[in-house]
Amino acid sequence: MATDRPTYDVAVVGAGPAGLAAAVGAAEAGLDVVLIDAGRLPGGQYWRHDEHSAPPRHHHGRLFARLRARLRHQRHLGRLHYLPGHQVWLIDRPRPDSGPFTLRLNGPYDTAPVERDRVRAGALVLCCGAYDRQLPLPGWELPGVMAAGGVQALLKGHRAVAGRRAVVAGTGPFLLPVATGLARAGVRVLAVCEANPAHGWLRHLDGAVRAPAKSAEAVRYAALMARHRIPYRTRATVTEILGEDRVRGVRLDGGEVLEADLVALGWGFTPALELPLMVGAATRRDLDGSLVAVVDARQRTTVPDVLAAGETTGVGGAAPAVAEGRLAALSLAAAHGLPVDPRAVRRLRAAIRHGRAFAAALHRTYPVPDGWTDRLTERTVVCRCEEVTYGELCRARTDLGAQDPRTMKLLARPGMGWCQGRICGFAVAAITASLTGRPATAEDLRPLSARPFAAPVTLGELAEPADDLDDPDDLDDPDGSDGEL
Ligand SMILES: Cc1cc2nc3c(=O)[nH]c(=O)nc-3n(C[C@H](O)[C@H](O)[C@H](O)COP(=O)(O)OP(=O)(O)OC[C@H]3O[C@@H](n4cnc5c(N)ncnc54)[C@H](O)[C@@H]3O)c2cc1C
Repeated sequence: MATDRPTYDVAVVGAGPAGLAAAVGAAEAGLDVVLIDAGRLPGGQYWRHDEHSAPPRHHHGRLFARLRARLRHQRHLGRLHYLPGHQVWLIDRPRPDSGPFTLRLNGPYDTAPVERDRVRAGALVLCCGAYDRQLPLPGWELPGVMAAGGVQALLKGHRAVAGRRAVVAGTGPFLLPVATGLARAGVRVLAVCEANPAHGWLRHLDGAVRAPAKSAEAVRYAALMARHRIPYRTRATVTEILGEDRVRGVRLDGGEVLEADLVALGWGFTPALELPLMVGAATRRDLDGSLVAVVDARQRTTVPDVLAAGETTGVGGAAPAVAEGRLAALSLAAAHGLPVDPRAVRRLRAAIRHGRAFAAALHRTYPVPDGWTDRLTERTVVCRCEEVTYGELCRARTDLGAQDPRTMKLLARPGMGWCQGRICGFAVAAITASLTGRPATAEDLRPLSARPFAAPVTLGELAEPADDLDDPDDLDDPDGSDGEL
């Protein structure tokens, strides 16, 4: 395994909208690229599909088809090496701030052997996407309760449904494709319960930001909701999941009970920051409360030769993700002294500004509602892996003096299990802050976003030396200089 180990100009991690655009753009600019993605097929979350389905036919679907065709072409030319079904679990740079990075890879699926177990690259573009943001509530650990994105992934990637009568709840526009996708697959969707008032996100857009494509999408979903007779209930919060061995319904604030065997919960997304934090990139708290990687106007993180694009820099949807990926590619091309069209750079920056302004309007319209921690009871499970309850977190605060999430993690063990805080990290940070009577900060979020490894590894993989490649000193450093964009 892994006998052929060249050093690439750039390794792009993630083949979603941002990573595809970055990898194809960098290869077309003349760089030698490796594109690594945990998924078997390109497309990431937004363009997730299975082997048998054609790309979606809406505007963004055509964009995906074009990117996929360009990916094939660049592979054919030998400028782009695509490694699907490979996940990066560790990034190491023997010489701080210069020299190539070594990326250690394994397969997310037990059945498929990996083509490479490591690659080396002079620069990185991290486009790792996001996870569903989850908030604990009584009963959410019951079988039949799923993250809205997980329900969507099952539908898109496996054409499978997880129940027959569903309630889709939480906040944000993402609840709509999940509900309509379920309905089209034959599931009876009893309601979309939107916790926020959610009328009038247009009010949050300033005059400069028009979003005709988004308005058309909203109209399309409204029509689909009407066709499938799915009630859209605003200011409606699920306060409790009911059931013994598995879910049998939900209780709404106000007391009403809806009987269901599937509950899809979504509170927006939270960026996957393992790799940016692993390489030491600076992070900040975004408008939606998530921790995101800090990038400059060229998509560069604070670490030399590490760029980031897409949800890694802030949850904003596929359109700004693609623009950021393209800009990252042009930045790298410029840094390598390759010609870059300044008009393309200006257009991309305008698209990113537009996309981010739109995302900010959505974040203001669909915030995580204040006071959600008030619904937690002594016995509500917060960390499902380690089965840590809200009561245990309260006692770690009052009896043991935990004031911050890191101490909370050490004393009560939330985020210590299999998922390493991916699911409960945001909630633990918010709960710790609320128990100490202050708002959550970026410092609260970081300890549960950083992980020693970005994916589970075997003892055998761990035992291998970190870098048994050639001496990095005999390799050319990439030109990490600014470049005029
Ligand atoms: C579960 C889920 C479902 C979503 N579904 C929709 C939807 O239906 N419609 C919609 O508008 N938006 C959806 N979104 C929002 C969506 O994330 C963005 O709109 C868009 O896909 C962001 O593009 P991206 O390139 O930044 O990230 P993504 O599309 O998430 O792509 C990131 C890619 O990086 C890969 N990756 C991450 N870490 C590693 C690693 N360590 N090693 C190798 N590969 C790695 C992932 O496998 C993934 O393929 C969803 C988000 C989530 C979390």
